[in-house]
Amino acid sequence: MTVQTAQTRPAISVVVPCFNEEGSLPELHRRVSAVCTGMGQSYEIVLVNDGSRDATWGVMQGLSAADPHIVAINLSRNHGHELALTAGLNLCKGKRVLIIDADLQDPPELLPDMMRAIDGGADVVYGQRRSRDGETAFKKVTSALFYRLLNQMVEVEIPRDTGDFRLMTRQVVDEFNKLTENLRFVRGMISWVGFKQVPILYDRDKRFAGETKYRIGKLLLLAIDAATSFSTVPLRLATWLGGIFAVLSVVGLVYAFVSYFIGLAIAGWTSVIIILLLLSGVQLVVMGIIGEYLGRLYMESKGRTLFVIRDVVTSASSSITAKHDPVLS
Ligand code: UDP
Ligand code: MG
Repeated sequence: MTVQTAQTRPAISVVVPCFNEEGSLPELHRRVSAVCTGMGQSYEIVLVNDGSRDATWGVMQGLSAADPHIVAINLSRNHGHELALTAGLNLCKGKRVLIIDADLQDPPELLPDMMRAIDGGADVVYGQRRSRDGETAFKKVTSALFYRLLNQMVEVEIPRDTGDFRLMTRQVVDEFNKLTENLRFVRGMISWVGFKQVPILYDRDKRFAGETKYRIGKLLLLAIDAATSFSTVPLRLATWLGGIFAVLSVVGLVYAFVSYFIGLAIAGWTSVIIILLLLSGVQLVVMGIIGEYLGRLYMESKGRTLFVIRDVVTSASSSITAKHDPVLS
């Protein structure tokens, strides 16, 4: 990296993926700006509009017209949280990068403490929740289960009770940006990158405005993506299941032969049906697991670009397209 680029980099980039967040953005802007100004550091706030259906993009443009620190990125459609985040991480220029949700569940006021941890030698400081006040018992239980299961399966430790709220060095972000897979679980990928990663404990607030974009179906999909992109244990599960049932069927065969020879052969409809149902059930599950991986292989084999940007707006340059952005070229 040349000295010249380093000079044009702000000290901090704050990257915010936004999907229908018109209600939270002005307050987010106020609090993030107050924290960054308070630290006396140069900064940019990279807002990524992930195909919102409300006035989010209009609010972003308004903020960017009034504040030169804002870089407003408009994706061409809803790409999903992980890809919106990826777009922000690709386009931000800061020497350190903070990821934060738009809904103010994670307090930006933690940034100075996170900066100190990085000054002290850490490369990634991730927020770890001490409490989850604003969340339902159901979400707490599913999330606890999710992390427990995930960490049983994967080789890199993905810390539990963490979201995407974290501060990272430029080196970590550059390494992250080299990962080109389409199906992404950002916090896992950052764990995978390695370096020195330390937690900072905090209390998670309620959403400032709007409602959660993660309903149960989406959470389940994220869990499957996380499991399959970091582990082949589910495939091995297929092998184990197959093995167990192979052994059981040998036992069944022996039993059948013995019964036949000692003249105990019975009509046996029930046992046949049970075995049939069990075996075909297991086969379907196993095929399903293989299908999950095969589908993902197929998706990745297309090698598509990760996100499509409609425009990037800052008050310095009214509208530039991604093609002209130095970060991407
Ligand atoms: N988000 C996004 N695209 C989506 C869904 C969510 O950019 O398709 C953003 C959302 O605006 C928020 C962050 O991702 O800033 C986390 O979403 P949310 O707060 O709904 O998740 P939760 O905190 O309930 O897990
Ligand atoms: Mg939230």
